[in-house]
Amino acid sequence: MDASNRNRYLEAMGVDVWVRRPGGPLAALELPKRAQAGAEAAPAEHGRGAEPWQTLRTEILSCTKCGLHKTRTQGVVGVGPQRTDWMVIGEAPGAEEDRRGEPFVGRAGHLLDAMLRAIGLDRGTNVYIANILKSRPPGNRDPRPEEVAACLPYLMRQIALLQPRLMLAVGRIAAQNLLSTELSLSRLRGKVHYFGELNTPLIVTYHPAYLLRTPADKRKAWEDLKFARSVFRQLTDRVGIGIDGNLS
Ligand code: URA
Repeated sequence: MDASNRNRYLEAMGVDVWVRRPGGPLAALELPKRAQAGAEAAPAEHGRGAEPWQTLRTEILSCTKCGLHKTRTQGVVGVGPQRTDWMVIGEAPGAEEDRRGEPFVGRAGHLLDAMLRAIGLDRGTNVYIANILKSRPPGNRDPRPEEVAACLPYLMRQIALLQPRLMLAVGRIAAQNLLSTELSLSRLRGKVHYFGELNTPLIVTYHPAYLLRTPADKRKAWEDLKFARSVFRQLTDRVGIGIDGNLS
């Protein structure tokens, strides 16, 4: 993406364009084994075909494992290509997502799209977006532990099928549940975490709904996105990147 396009997307995010500082936290980043492209260790469920995705979708849409099925309009599975290197994980569907059956389609979703576009990502092309919960909690309250426990296996299956090279957790709820921690978002930002058996690099940033309420932190979110992009580039340095932006 050329600089003028990126600047337009940053403007859409409400971030002033700034100049890059040399050096930075990535200089000495060491990626563990699977995080390095080429080190393959496919778990059993990994499948690039459409069938396991379809099975998963059917199960999610008919799920009654927690009480949220009684109040939701529909389950919200995820959106994006079934083969892609980037995965974004949010908290739970809101009212608009519940109505339309797609994650991040309300105001926060528009901001998320602008943030992702600023680093060359688009849900139609090269990033898969899902949530911790597949059903909307009434009134957009925080997910309850029993709801997360019931729903998390679906997300784990999505991750196993997709095998993303890099995961971006947006917001405290997604980050804490994925990393099994109670550390605050500010403690979790700015470093590379590693998720699951495949040591998938996971980076934490603010939830776009929070950024809508606190626009002063958009600049920090932009730092996180650049950090994520740099980590991804470190991975791609070792292999070719396809025209779709995915690793070959
Ligand atoms: N917030 C989320 O975390 N996910 C959505 O899909 C929408 C809003």
